[in-house]
Amino acid sequence: MAVKEIVADIRHLSGEVYYPSPEVLERAYIKDYPSLYQRAMQDLEAFWAERAEELEWFRKWDRVLDDSNKPFYKWFVGGKINICYNAVDRHMKTWRKNKVALYWEAENGERRVLSYYDLYREVNRFANVLKALGIRKGDRVTIYMPRIPELPIAMLACARIGAIHSVVFAGFSVEALHTRIEDSKSRLVITADGGYLNGRIVETKRTVDEAVRRSPSVEHVLVVRRTRHEVPMEPGRDYFYDELARLPFAQGECPVEETDAEDPLYILYTSGTTGAPKGQVHVHGGYAVYIYTTMKWVFDIKDEDIWWCTADPGWVTGHSYIVYAPLMLGATSVMYEGAPTYPYPDRWWSIVEKYGVTVLYTTPTAIRGLMRFGDEWPNRRHLSSLRLLGTVGEPINPEAWRWYYRVIGKGRCPIMDTWWMTETGGFMITPMPCVPLKPGSATLPFPGIRADVVDENGNPCPPGVEGYLVIQNPWPGMSRTLYGDPDRYVKTYWSKYPGWFFTGDSARRDEDGYFYIIGRVDDVLKVSGYRLGTAEIESALVAHPAVAEAAAIGLPHEVKGEGIHCYVILKAGYTPSEALAEELRQHVAQLIGPIARPEAIHFVDKLPKTRSGKIMRRVLRARALGLPEGDLSTLEE
Ligand code: ATP
Ligand code: MG
Repeated sequence: MAVKEIVADIRHLSGEVYYPSPEVLERAYIKDYPSLYQRAMQDLEAFWAERAEELEWFRKWDRVLDDSNKPFYKWFVGGKINICYNAVDRHMKTWRKNKVALYWEAENGERRVLSYYDLYREVNRFANVLKALGIRKGDRVTIYMPRIPELPIAMLACARIGAIHSVVFAGFSVEALHTRIEDSKSRLVITADGGYLNGRIVETKRTVDEAVRRSPSVEHVLVVRRTRHEVPMEPGRDYFYDELARLPFAQGECPVEETDAEDPLYILYTSGTTGAPKGQVHVHGGYAVYIYTTMKWVFDIKDEDIWWCTADPGWVTGHSYIVYAPLMLGATSVMYEGAPTYPYPDRWWSIVEKYGVTVLYTTPTAIRGLMRFGDEWPNRRHLSSLRLLGTVGEPINPEAWRWYYRVIGKGRCPIMDTWWMTETGGFMITPMPCVPLKPGSATLPFPGIRADVVDENGNPCPPGVEGYLVIQNPWPGMSRTLYGDPDRYVKTYWSKYPGWFFTGDSARRDEDGYFYIIGRVDDVLKVSGYRLGTAEIESALVAHPAVAEAAAIGLPHEVKGEGIHCYVILKAGYTPSEALAEELRQHVAQLIGPIARPEAIHFVDKLPKTRSGKIMRRVLRARALGLPEGDLSTLEE
């Protein structure tokens, strides 16, 4: 059975391995991953039921898993639970009522501190206002807001009354926002007058105005005041939140809706890295259990921690690990409004120092971006509060991993490279502090997750051989469907291998069973019959001292089938030249093999990325071939 292979003796591993220190092990909730994994797999339902006991239910479930209508699995059937109640109300009964829930810092240094009790009052007020605007259980609400405390407050308020939120990242264009409002048929849009980024105002309200012009479903627009600059308000449709929040109906407690475990909590559209975004639907019950458990064990969250996830609440990382999981765990979080380099490239490091951040969770793109400025910026700040680091979103290049480990973590902090997707709700393949690490590997599956790398026919690939990453059993955090399009849900995820979840990512495992994510299946290159991952080529380039960032794509080649074309951003102090291009071609050939020698190196100043920082290789490919660029709604400006 697959279980044995996965839990190969992790005390004796091959390659570049970082074993947990005694201090890390001492403090960790989970000290023995292999036996926990084994136990979970022996009885999945018992395992998840035990996890679910840690949350507060209005009514316990009758059945843990209902798989009578595959792939539309149901979890904790018959159970009644509300995620907002678990994130907020629950803490009113304990000392955490007066604990800091959120430290918020604006770009200009302005601060807000919210205790759990503050949060409780704010969420109730917001929920009362939503109700006054006619929002009821099951209604969709689009949220398009800068990174201010009212964003999580609005999400929690929706959850409280059983409304379904659809958060759209506030950097998205009018068109992207419009299609998401349309798709979800939202009755209300919540926004702010504006936000700040790099010292400038982001015109969120004006974008909303344009987006809703063609959206007949929208009845009201609720505007939180942030910048207080002049914005147009349409009488009868638009309201300032603070004006409504002062009225009598907004005062006092707003009763919590006793939602069903399977009631939808939110719709969230995927990043659109590979194509048109899909509206993933997550629910109150199983999702809560899954993200609570994954965050607790992977980031080993305790009461004394200061947690900082640098993502935007507008993508799934923010939903699960800025808003819902940290609050359910009663953790103290940091939220920062603006850009990482504003006004200087040490802004993030100054925040770590100022709040004594103990666990930092960010993306490879951010790490590579900050690495470009050199070690001096982090080195002039005290980062000694950190004990654990994390990354998500793309494969992390070993070079960037080592920098993060050495310069930010000072060689003391294990890095949790968490592989997961909007579809999965939470971490899937990820270390825990007790699991030995290998740079560039997301290590092993979370307990309760059976994952493998398989070939076209579903047979496991031998070590070192690349194949399709699949998940072979259901888990409570899985998205339940694509909003309004169940057929596409079945077709996209459950058709290639019936009974298994098809991730769309390619990966390989090493001789120890460790997983290496190579990239999207759509991005894999075939050069002279060999399959090559973009991540491998890009990591080779990033390992060269001149290179800050790189993207590799395949373009048609008469002889080889596909030829490798690379787009490279140089580090400060290096200038493009034919000689350097040749040096880089040789460097890649040397590190990976002659087969991987790029046809061409293009020096660029920018790469097309999604708003969440992922390289959009399909856009590079389309541009190079002179083809239509496809859905660009999530492209960064
Ligand atoms: P779309 O599905 O619309 O193309 P997307 O896949 O970028 O967009 P997300 O759900 O935000 O949308 O991202 C999930 C993907 O991100 C994964 O499928 C994987 O390719 C990548 N990813 C996430 N975490 C990691 C990680 N730790 N290592 C490697 N890749 C990762
Ligand atoms: Mg995806």
